[in-house]
Amino acid sequence: MSVLVFVECADGKVKKSALEAAFYGHQVATQLGTSAVAVAIGEVAADELKNLGQYGITKVLHDTETRLKDYVSQAYVKVVAAAVEKENATVIVLSNTNIGSGIGARLAARLQASFATNVVALPELAGNSLKVKKSVFSGKAFADEVLTAPTKIIAVKKNAIEVNTVGTHEAEVESFTASLTDADFTGAPRETIRATGDVLLTEADVVVSGGRGMRGPENWHLIEDLAKALGAATACSKPVADVGWRPHHEHVGQTGITISPNLYIAVGISGAIQHLAGVNSSKVIVVINKDPEAPFFKAADYGIVGDIFEVVPKLIEAAKAL
Ligand code: FAD
Repeated sequence: MSVLVFVECADGKVKKSALEAAFYGHQVATQLGTSAVAVAIGEVAADELKNLGQYGITKVLHDTETRLKDYVSQAYVKVVAAAVEKENATVIVLSNTNIGSGIGARLAARLQASFATNVVALPELAGNSLKVKKSVFSGKAFADEVLTAPTKIIAVKKNAIEVNTVGTHEAEVESFTASLTDADFTGAPRETIRATGDVLLTEADVVVSGGRGMRGPENWHLIEDLAKALGAATACSKPVADVGWRPHHEHVGQTGITISPNLYIAVGISGAIQHLAGVNSSKVIVVINKDPEAPFFKAADYGIVGDIFEVVPKLIEAAKAL
């Protein structure tokens, strides 16, 4: 018996959110008196996988079949299910990303498992059940959920748990092949287009985001320059994407992407509830707005009341000097 962690990879690397899942899986395995094994899919450097040993993973099953280069939900679910069977895993841990929660839902249906999303703390053992704490209502409240099925799937919310290394040993990497047919790849993407910017928005530690207060796309160099100086990703409010100033994959909020970076800098965004729904799990929120009554200041850790076109150039200079 073991705990199985699905580690999400991109561009040949293990994602930061996957390291959180790995460490969480290790902690659950310790609670249960077992070990944590990971499954990784597609192209990823062997050193990246060995490095998972530092987060408590003992072994990594790696399926490198070429058709798995891009995410295809049905095929990925089959690989994870095969790994669950091989390891006789009763707890499966993944990140609460689009891919992780998508795999979790399909896997739960396939294995008749209990599935909890947005989990923010280690489970409590209750006989054969696990009680987990999860974030609900766009991060406004927490709920306890008891997972009772023999197989339990936990999707860990990004940035919700502290990650520590547990040593310097390497995980054993084992080649793994699940039995897949052409039918498993009917939903394969024809083309993958990379999101703009050097830093992926959903993985970013720092995000600089612009709203309608930016006045137009011609001023977006301010957002981009500040993001570049801070090694940040860029984001925007919904109306900004709706009018085409920025691409829709940058739109955060209730109808866009949900992010939880360590630092979210909102520039010229009023702070409507629908926008906050996507960013209020950020560790630190900084708001720059000329209106001292802007609702976003109520959710901010730090606020600057001032004009974007005076404040942001000064911030860029200061950030470049860091
Ligand atoms: P505004 O509300 O127009 O705010 C612009 C801000 O810029 C103002 O506070 C102003 O004081 C400030 N400003 C202007 N000029 C300057 C300057 N020179 N210097 C400093 N500050 C300045 N919105 C989202 O963002 N994400 C969502 O997912 C989303 N989903 C929605 C779903 C539904 C069903 C609905 C009804 C709405 C949704 N919205 C969403 C829209 C949301 O309600 C707001 O309308 C939107 O977030 C406002 O965008 P904004 O803050 O960029 O613009």
